[in-house]
Amino acid sequence: MIHKVLIANRGEIAVRIIRSCREMGIKTVAVFSTADRQALHVRLADQSVCIGPPPSAESYLNVPAILSAVEITDADSVHPGYGFLAENAAFAEICMNYGVKFIGPSAESIRMMGDKIEARRLAQKSKVPVVPGSDGAVTEEDDGLRVAKEIGFPVIVKAAAGGGGRGMKIVHSPASFINAFLTAQSEALSSFGVPSVYVEKYFDNARHVEVQVMGDRHGNVIHLGDRDCSIQRRHQKLIEEAPAPALPARVRHRMWKAAVDAAAAVNYNSVGTVEFLYIPDGEFYFLEMNTRIQVEHPVTEMITGIDIVREQIRIADGKKLRYEQKDVAQRGHAIEVRINAEDPDTFLPSPGSIHSCVFPGGFGVRVDTAIYPGYTVPSTYDSLLGKLIVHGEDRNDAIMRMRRALDEFRVDGVRTTVPFHKKMMVNSDFVEARLSTNFLEKQRP
Ligand code: ADP
Repeated sequence: MIHKVLIANRGEIAVRIIRSCREMGIKTVAVFSTADRQALHVRLADQSVCIGPPPSAESYLNVPAILSAVEITDADSVHPGYGFLAENAAFAEICMNYGVKFIGPSAESIRMMGDKIEARRLAQKSKVPVVPGSDGAVTEEDDGLRVAKEIGFPVIVKAAAGGGGRGMKIVHSPASFINAFLTAQSEALSSFGVPSVYVEKYFDNARHVEVQVMGDRHGNVIHLGDRDCSIQRRHQKLIEEAPAPALPARVRHRMWKAAVDAAAAVNYNSVGTVEFLYIPDGEFYFLEMNTRIQVEHPVTEMITGIDIVREQIRIADGKKLRYEQKDVAQRGHAIEVRINAEDPDTFLPSPGSIHSCVFPGGFGVRVDTAIYPGYTVPSTYDSLLGKLIVHGEDRNDAIMRMRRALDEFRVDGVRTTVPFHKKMMVNSDFVEARLSTNFLEKQRP
């Protein structure tokens, strides 16, 4: 039985996990770097342990320090959140060998899905359509060029071990291919430690649509519906919503089934997300699987009423899923906007001290954040301050509620992306759900 969870993370997701633990009667241990002494997750947890200096490599990615914290606090499990060690198969394995429950899937699933080439192969094996591209890794530039010509330009060269929107190069013509390919290879090696890359067709009018899945250790896998995360900047999501708007019912049902099939193919036994590219009025293709809780999970929680973190902890504890597919109902529409400490026009980071802040509330509004008045946003970590999520009867209702909630949102001291989201909520293409992953490149809201 899980009695005490150490959260190997920081920021809003650490706070989010502590909240579910507390509601489940589970004790929590926060870990923190010296830059995070005043952080909210440290204040909210039952216990806390300093694990090193500010750089992530010496603190939130410092496995020996985290394991020592487990040892001295007698925690029986570790929740990795997202980012940091969440998709590190070796860490999951070490936890298990240590007799500590890793609140995530098996190391084996993480390893298989973490290699995008292997994941493509697995998807194909379970008859899930993948983006047209090379058969496995491409090592020689000439082979890459041949594949690119076969599938047709533009193409995207991707690092097998890539993530977080990094390790991708879009190539528009044969003339620029070789150069881009060699750069992608060397960047893959320097950023991810493996030079392995592959080539895919690049779709410039695609939407990013993903399916939340949930599997237990008793062979059950279900889905919790879909989300659209097409509003991105540099392949990083900014706005997410559930369900994905304007998706034909036939496509939606096939996508749900494809996601469950892909998860079942790796005996997936945690919560996870299968990501697809959807070409409006056309096909959808498997992109990759994220084997962790995602930033945007709240929109699914809002429409299903299911606490996904709670289920994730129960599954890691060996319990059976509490829901069968037929028990999962979806109601209304939810939208999430990411509030980053960034200049809303240039998106440059804006760290600093929060003099004051006021969060919106009221019917259908949720704020997941780790900031408070007097808190100093460190420059060492990502710029996500929190997420504003609203639920409405339908998409229009949710947009009206988001406009109202954004008007109430006040943060003084750092610049935030709130003004950007305000413009988006009145942008006619967004309001009419004409979404695509290059939305922002095509127009400034
Ligand atoms: P990461 O693991 O870094 O998140 P993904 O494979 O999930 O990488 O891709 C991130 C984003 O990049 C997608 O949401 C999409 O916007 C864009 N992208 C990736 N592959 C393609 C493609 N073949 N065509 C068009 N856009 C793509």
